[in-house]
Amino acid sequence: MKLTTSPRIGPATLTLLASTFLVAAYNTAFWRNFIIATGHFSLGHLPLIAGSVVLIVMLFNAFLTLASFRYVLKPLLIVLFVATAFTTYFMNKYGTQIDRSMIQNLVETDIGEATELLSWKLLMTVVLLGVLPSLLVWRTRIDFPVGPRGLLRRGGFFAGSLTIAVLLLLAFSKTLVPSLREHRELRFLLTPTNYIQAINSYVKFKRAKTVVVAPLGTDAVKAVRGSGNRDRSVTLIVVGETARAANFSLDGYVRMTNPELAGQPDLINFPHMQSCGTATAVSLPCVFSNLGRENYADAQAYAQQGLLDVLQHAGYKVLWRDNNSGCKGACARVAYEDLAKPVPGNQWCVNDECYDERLLEKLPDMIRDAHDDMVIVLHQKGSHGPAYYKRYPASFKRFVPVCETIELDKCSAESIVNAYDNTILYTDHFLNKTIELLKASAASEHVNTAMMYFSDHGESLGEHNMYLHGAPFMFAPAEQREVPFMMWMSDGFRSRYQLDQSCLKERAGLPYSHDNVFHSVLGMLSVKTSVYKPALDLFGACVK
Ligand SMILES: [Zn+2]
Repeated sequence: MKLTTSPRIGPATLTLLASTFLVAAYNTAFWRNFIIATGHFSLGHLPLIAGSVVLIVMLFNAFLTLASFRYVLKPLLIVLFVATAFTTYFMNKYGTQIDRSMIQNLVETDIGEATELLSWKLLMTVVLLGVLPSLLVWRTRIDFPVGPRGLLRRGGFFAGSLTIAVLLLLAFSKTLVPSLREHRELRFLLTPTNYIQAINSYVKFKRAKTVVVAPLGTDAVKAVRGSGNRDRSVTLIVVGETARAANFSLDGYVRMTNPELAGQPDLINFPHMQSCGTATAVSLPCVFSNLGRENYADAQAYAQQGLLDVLQHAGYKVLWRDNNSGCKGACARVAYEDLAKPVPGNQWCVNDECYDERLLEKLPDMIRDAHDDMVIVLHQKGSHGPAYYKRYPASFKRFVPVCETIELDKCSAESIVNAYDNTILYTDHFLNKTIELLKASAASEHVNTAMMYFSDHGESLGEHNMYLHGAPFMFAPAEQREVPFMMWMSDGFRSRYQLDQSCLKERAGLPYSHDNVFHSVLGMLSVKTSVYKPALDLFGACVK
């Protein structure tokens, strides 16, 4: 065959054609579900659908552009076409989503079982969507630009594609972001990213199984401080969810969203606290680790012990009570109570979830019956969106009108903020009730009590046309990064740990971050260990 008969095109044309083909030819299941998830099919809906098609084409194009080099692009496209053809066949035939467990089934199935899945229809699909486009790519002559000019061109196409994708995402974020969050199955339907992610996750999972968790702070001991009282202590660490400092009146919000906490004279509020990440899956393991934001990596956090382990090494009993979706590894080796699953008849549970006050159930009994120093983590559901209106009992529906759907595009900006502010009102009530409970225990049980509260990350409520959270940290707006942080201590607690309240109040206005939490908890509870860094302990300067 003469080469001159082959079509000749530039790599940019090829990546754009291939991206469009991937989005259009293999993704019928995705688009069917996408249209249902974002509402319905109508003329008014067309811009959203068209915009989303272009958005995904541009994302695929950006990544293919990174690979648009001689000896790389063609083999990559051929592998993608063939593998995606197989995936598409199985998704359509079995209506399955492609996730880690599917890859696990595939890898761990023996040949005998696998051959039962083969059929003529599979062969046809693979020929039509895999082999034919591959042949076309194989026969195409591509004029790769070379040298610095070539790199510059690729850089331009990459940046251009990403820019278009980001602009489209911003333009449609009010519908797109909540729909994608509520319909997580969509990301298991979009191919080829679904199986690439699934394979990646499977490999990680296999490796994680063999990871030996490195010990941390095994030298930790409780030091006795000064001549204060010696009663045992119970420290509550309340981990908030999606609460942003911007909507706490204690942090300067114009609306009174902290009416109850404002009446707590001994509460110390820290108005300048930065989160470690913009999503629970990052912030939570990060804040309980000693890695700090700059050095944080998921794999590293899971491969070593964290704050709660060090506290246990020092002799503190630790319990994690959860009304959220788990602790993301932060509580792996401590006692754990799942309070997120509704129990019939429980006064705090409605439909399929429970209000945060359930986290306080039986807490006075636990505090009474614990004979040792104890640290209890309460993990709130807090202000988790987009269904803000589901997070609080009816009596906290005080800012109205309220957005009562997850389709935020159907709500006014005001009603979205109202719903969110009601969640903050409820958290205000929950925290105040926690403090009152700790006061009562301190008075009746001779126990030194304290509460530390911080949120995992903030939330966007339409500023810069952004919603929810999870923006890359570097580009994340302040609303997603600035979180509330506060501290309440009983007199006995301050006496035992020799902490100076007025000194702390004075220093509360300084800028802090999640990086301070690990060392501050150790410092506050007078834990001596080689992994403690005094420079990051925000209580350090206030120990008498
Ligand atoms: Zn979160």
